[in-house]
Amino acid sequence: MVSSGFRDLLLKLGLPEGRLHVLEGKGRIEEDTFEGIRYVRFRDSAKGFRRGTVVFEDGTVVSGFPHIKRVVQLENGVKRIFKGRPFYVEEKVDGYNVRVVKVKGRVLALTRGGFVCPFTTERILDFVNEGFFKDYPNLVLVGEMAGPESPYLVEGPPYVEEDIEFFLFDIQEKGTGRSLPAGERYRLAEEYGIPQVEVFGLYDRSRIEELYDLIERLSREGREGIVMKTPDMRKVAKYVTPYANINDIKIGSHIFFDLPHGYFMGRISRLAFYIAERKIRGEEFDEYTKALGEALLKPLVESIEEVSQGHEVEESFTVRVKNISTAHKMVGHFERLGVKIHIEDIEDLKNGYWRVTFKRVYPDARREIRELWNGLAF
Ligand code: ATP
Repeated sequence: MVSSGFRDLLLKLGLPEGRLHVLEGKGRIEEDTFEGIRYVRFRDSAKGFRRGTVVFEDGTVVSGFPHIKRVVQLENGVKRIFKGRPFYVEEKVDGYNVRVVKVKGRVLALTRGGFVCPFTTERILDFVNEGFFKDYPNLVLVGEMAGPESPYLVEGPPYVEEDIEFFLFDIQEKGTGRSLPAGERYRLAEEYGIPQVEVFGLYDRSRIEELYDLIERLSREGREGIVMKTPDMRKVAKYVTPYANINDIKIGSHIFFDLPHGYFMGRISRLAFYIAERKIRGEEFDEYTKALGEALLKPLVESIEEVSQGHEVEESFTVRVKNISTAHKMVGHFERLGVKIHIEDIEDLKNGYWRVTFKRVYPDARREIRELWNGLAF
């Protein structure tokens, strides 16, 4: 339920009363508090409000981050989406999406789903210059948090060797969620020293061979892919490397029964499209078949073996926090996401940070494997 103060605010912002009623009834709009700051988050879209939109008690609206179209056949996708127009090519950094905003004097980091993330909020000013918000209180910085010590992902990009980093890839207006033109974003990032995703340059469809070379290089380097954007940010499309498709399957296979079938389907088919588009044959083809087979099977077999010996299906991850209380807040945060984690270890790094190790268990995956192992028939 949404309190009456928020109800009035949402109606004033243009949310139709009927829609609010439906969202409330289905629990698709939720009220929450972060350290005394109240907000609602949209778990579904509604007129003028994208999914993931957050509305704060002071009336600040941070629009949800929009879905980016995925291209699967690179050459035809580029032709179809961009026609003859030029587009910037940026790295698609493998991490988690955050929207950074200043509300009631505090810089907050929002997850894609519209939660204020306690961990990211505590760390964000390690990476982002607060002066930016003094000069542009009406803008939202959108970027990827990526690295090996991340609460939401098992791995990070190869060039972040420890901890986590922020990579800006969009600047949007509060309220409308409209993006600044890419060139303006590049300039502002430079001016305020905000780290940003790597920009590979301005391309167009006549340079498809160079794009293929870029994808091959990124794949070799263990990087996730590219996002292509017209300078005005009106057309945006993503493409992932064969490396990322296989690596995601490897990570997912460990918790095979916890993931929707589409997780594997999408990645296998994207890899197949890549192989067909690039006409890969012979030895290289054999390498892909082996890598895919291994990625699909090995972690799953290992999980089955673990469970058959009475163990859990689990993953551990480590993050660096400034206050131990932030680690406890993360446990609560995950609980609200329906995820079971507990703190396994806390180490004082003696530089103002604590390294906290969490363990996440997957009870559903474990139950499924145990039942099948114990002879349950389909
Ligand atoms: P979508 O709703 O777009 O399908 P998804 O959760 O399936 O999202 P992905 O397939 O990983 O996500 O791709 C989109 C995400 O990629 C964005 O939400 C953003 O967090 C991330 N990303 C990384 N680098 C960039 C970049 N340079 N430009 C835009 N997004 C980027």
